[in-house]
Formats: sequence, structure tokens, C-alpha cells
Amino acid sequence: MPGDAALHCHVSHPIQRSLHDPDFAGLQRILEAEGVNPSHARALWGALHREGALDLASRSFLPPLQRWVERSVGEGKAFFLDAPEVIEEIRSDDELTRKFLLRLRDGQTIETVLMGYAGRHTVCVSTQAGCAMGCVFCATGQMGFVRHLRPGEIVAQVLHARRVLQTVAPGRRLRNLVLMGMGEPLHNYESVMQALSSISNPGGISIGPARIAISTVGVIPGILRLAEERQPYKLAVSLHGSTDEERSALVPVGERWPLPDLIEACRQYGKITEKRIFFEWTLIDGKNDSPETAARLAKLLTNINAHINLIPLNPTGGYTGEESDAGTGRQFQHILQASGFPCTFRQRRGIDVAAGCGMLKAERGTKRQV
Ligand code: SAH
Ligand code: SF4
Repeated sequence: MPGDAALHCHVSHPIQRSLHDPDFAGLQRILEAEGVNPSHARALWGALHREGALDLASRSFLPPLQRWVERSVGEGKAFFLDAPEVIEEIRSDDELTRKFLLRLRDGQTIETVLMGYAGRHTVCVSTQAGCAMGCVFCATGQMGFVRHLRPGEIVAQVLHARRVLQTVAPGRRLRNLVLMGMGEPLHNYESVMQALSSISNPGGISIGPARIAISTVGVIPGILRLAEERQPYKLAVSLHGSTDEERSALVPVGERWPLPDLIEACRQYGKITEKRIFFEWTLIDGKNDSPETAARLAKLLTNINAHINLIPLNPTGGYTGEESDAGTGRQFQHILQASGFPCTFRQRRGIDVAAGCGMLKAERGTKRQV
């Protein structure tokens, strides 16, 4: 109807919605509510998630969908696509790892990293602008919390990384995703789960759930919810301390979710899901790297199907602690291995500059903008 179309063209919508926010079922519901047969969702989904279209204006769809797209998607219309703007890119010496500072629609900036090593490509995404958890050694924690990301803003980071990968290594698939960028994923549970449903959808980006890792500072209710909902993703828990005292000095929310309770929640998670849990441990000189701490950690994790990832500390502006020396780190690793735990060092993956999450943003002084 021409009159109808004209109305839609000239009235700017007070509430615009992202077409990258909904998962597949949500997109079907949107089309249905808009009077378009939901069977068209597949074509729209394919354009958005499989092809990674940055705009829909140049696409051709079957007439009912085409008419709806023309009427409803774009500047000043009811729906928009999430397409964050790259404001900075840093490349590792070998070019395979790239870190992006992306600007969202409201001007907030977040970081996304595309990592390439040993023929595997992994994207590390942010789930919040800033973080409320305040870990003392973390550049994002030092910024404080700004806001949660919407599902579409999480999905769009993966789409961006995949687009870049296609130019760096044409034909290579982006197979792995880690939620280890800025923010605490389980503090933004609903949006993260919705985004992961979209990202793992076989008709779209199609990163398998077993290749998606959620990293948490130890939000107990979130860990239990993952188990109860049988979410199919990998779980990584950032521990960094073997006693409440040791841990809370680095991870202040350790006071809210004490270590014995956290370990009990992990046990529950393991029992319900029968899955291995990854434990992350940032080694800091004199703080959490002694042989006694390693032995206590091994005891703490008794009977948990655990893999321990040791992370060398990346220096940040707001923290004076230092990286453990190599010998101390190896000793720590050997104690855990001798206790029967797989324990590996996380590679730095060729990022030579501004490596840790939040560091690029911190360096650029583009902190809180609200
Ligand atoms: N909020 C989640 C996920 C993002 S942080 C979490 O804390 O798990 C991802 C990992 O990077 C965490 O294990 C975190 O402790 C670690 N990390 C953060 N800043 C770091 C730094 N400066 N050096 C080394 N590891 C760091
Ligand atoms: Fe937040 Fe994770 Fe950084 Fe802690 S380490 S402040 S939880 S992003």
C-alpha cells in the first residue's frame, strides 16, 4: 500500500530494534507480528548471519519480504542492523591476531580479538561495556561498569571477526568462540544466551556449542543456571586464589561468592552436566604462585573433572603486581600435573601490544562516556 509505505518512510521510530538481537525463533515471531509469513525468516536469517550482510538494501528477497525490508529496515525505520564501526585495529607481528576497538551505536567502545594460531581461528568477544566485578589486575575491571551488551552487539562482533578472517585467510572457517573479552558473561545472562543461540545456529554463523567457552569470574547463580538449563557450552571459571583471603584480594566478588560455595557449585555443575570445567589462573608474583597455593588448589579441586589454564599476567595501568617468573610458573604447573590435573599455559597468541582485555580501550582514554 503506497500510503502505508509513505507513512513508514517519513516517521522516525522512537524505538528502533536490532535485527541481530533476536535468535531464529525470535526473528520468525517478528515477521509474523509484522504481517509477513514467518517462512521468510530463513532467507532473512541467511542474509544476516550466514552471509553477514552489512545492509539489506542491496539484497533481493521474495516480494513479501522485500517489501517489508524496504519499509521497515534502515535509518529512521523500525529496525536496524548491528554493524559496529572499527575505530582502531592492532595487528600482531605475524598478522594472524588482530584486536579491534569497536564503536557501538551509542558511542560506547568495546574490544574484540580475532586470534589465529596453529591453523585454528578463535574470536574473543566482549559481553559488557566495562565490568562491575572489579578484579584488581584487569583493565576492564578498573574502568567500572557502563552497560550490558545486547545480543545483537555480541553477534555483530563475531560477524566482524569472520569478515576480517575471510580477507586474511580466505576459505578458513571461524570455528571457536570465547567469551573472554570485556565484561562478565553471567552478569548479562539472558542476552549472552540469546546471542549464543544465534551464533551456534547451523543455518547461520554455525560455531558448534562445544567450541564456545563461557568464562566467568564465579557468579554462582549463573553457573547453576547453566547446569539446570543444560546449556551445551564449555565453562571456564576464573579462580586466581586457593583461599578466600588470597582470592578476594584479587577478585573482590570473592566476598559475595566465597570459594567453598563456588567450588561446591562447580561440583554440582560437573555432576549435572558430566562436563569438564576449565579453571583459569592468572599467575601473579608473590600473590598466588607459591607451591603451597598450587598444592591447596589441587586439594580444592579433588574429584572435579578440571583442566587448569595458567595465564601470564598482562601489566595494566591500574595495578602494580607483576608476572610470575617462568621457573615459578613451571613449578606451579608441575605440582598440579603431579596431582593428576591437565594444566597448560595459555598462549599469548601473538598479540604483542595491548594484549589483555580492556587494555586497548584503557590506553586510548576512551573510558566511560556516560
Ligand atoms: N569476566 C570473565 C571473562 C572475561 S576476563 C572472567 O573474569 O572470567 C577473561 C580472563 O582474563 C579471566 O580469567 C581474567 O581473570 C583474565 N584477565 C583479565 N585481566 C588480565 C590481565 N591483566 N592479565 C592476565 N589475565 C587477565
Ligand atoms: Fe570483569 Fe572478568 Fe575483568 Fe574480573 S577479570 S573485572 S570479571 S572482565
